[in-house]
Amino acid sequence: MKKLLIVDDSEFVLNLFKHALDDSPEIEALYAENYAQAMRIMRSNPNQIHAAILDYKLPDAPNGEVVALANSNNIPTIVLTGDLNKETRDIILKKNVINFILKNDPNSIHSALDSAKKALKNYDTTVLIADDSKLSRELIKMSLESIHLNIIEATNGQEALDLILNGKHNISLLIIDYLMPELDGLDLTFALRKQFSKAQLGIIAISSCEDEETISKFLKLGANDFVHKPPVPHEIINTVNANLELLSLFEQVSDMANKDFLTGAYNRRYFFDVGGAIFLKAKRKNAPLAVIMLDIDKFKKINDTYGHDIGDIALKKVKTVLDRNLRDSDLSARFGGEEFCILLEDISLENLQTLLERIRADFENNIVETKKANFSYTVSLGAAYGMAESLDELVKLSDQGLFQAKEHGRNQVKINTYVM
Ligand code: GH3
Ligand code: MG
Ligand code: MG
Repeated sequence: MKKLLIVDDSEFVLNLFKHALDDSPEIEALYAENYAQAMRIMRSNPNQIHAAILDYKLPDAPNGEVVALANSNNIPTIVLTGDLNKETRDIILKKNVINFILKNDPNSIHSALDSAKKALKNYDTTVLIADDSKLSRELIKMSLESIHLNIIEATNGQEALDLILNGKHNISLLIIDYLMPELDGLDLTFALRKQFSKAQLGIIAISSCEDEETISKFLKLGANDFVHKPPVPHEIINTVNANLELLSLFEQVSDMANKDFLTGAYNRRYFFDVGGAIFLKAKRKNAPLAVIMLDIDKFKKINDTYGHDIGDIALKKVKTVLDRNLRDSDLSARFGGEEFCILLEDISLENLQTLLERIRADFENNIVETKKANFSYTVSLGAAYGMAESLDELVKLSDQGLFQAKEHGRNQVKINTYVM
């Protein structure tokens, strides 16, 4: 959970923010109407405010004092301002101000929140610096830590490659030096691009100004961008920001195609695309797979009782509950309505039984808390275990299991094993 401070003297504006942030589970918003309140909040949350959206002009601080205060507390800030003149511009150019938004723009609330979300994302974004020079690493690290990115270091190309391939760090972007022991920057870029596209992993090459040829080689091998050596803080920050933004746009485009807008779960098409490949791999090894079909019980009643918007919140909870019970390698998707499908590999029948029961019980015990009502709901689960002619067949068999679970009274689990 990230803390976002929002300061504005207009109750109307604060309410717009409150409404827009209504069900953002990942953001805890703190609201203040004036400088005094903002200061109190900053003092009682030392080093805990991750970003701020601040009104430049407040009744008790008419000259951007609140922006200066956030800046001295090292809080990334988005400034809301009624007009842009020379004085506001000087404040806005302070180091922690990442954006300014003109208040008369009808879209200003959403632009400000978009900007804030980007700033918050940095706290969960990891950049790997691969450079054998300690000094150069330190310089880059300091610049990037000032925008709250997480930094990992590697002193040679091989170490960098190992760190990426072990997959533990969820690295978004690499900054790669050319000359390094063991594996140089060009070989590292070449090795990485065999596995990761430019949209999946950003690569920024560092190279000395004189050496245009190296830069051109880097770009040919698939680097996204380059910075010159010795690294200058603002150049590093701007280049990294621009590339992170591009990566996030790539991700949005791919999410639009592959994910369900409401819950953020993958969609049916993605399930069959990726699931199809998993199925073929398992079939070659003659390894069993498990497919689970899950459906909310009496969901229509939740909609009828509390309204469609509360129904939507209940639906989003399905993803939360699944995420906390599944492994990262399990593939889950919303198939439509209140039905979800999950594909698992490397699981024994016994462990599948335990997992299904754990998921069933987790839903039963999970209280959905909303402003209008608190309630819980149950789910029915059907599963298919084994190997079949096609993934489709396994999905159909799990669907039959679901039908049986519903028939037998709901809130239960039915597994059908498939013997070819
Ligand atoms: P059962 O236990 O037999 O599954 O009963 P049910 O009420 O859950 O199933 P039914 O198929 O009768 O109703 C499903 C309801 O799900 C009807 C539909 O309005 C609702 N629904 C489908 N998609 C959405 C959605 O995106 N949001 C909301 N709020 N409701 C949805
Ligand atoms: Mg249902
Ligand atoms: Mg899911």
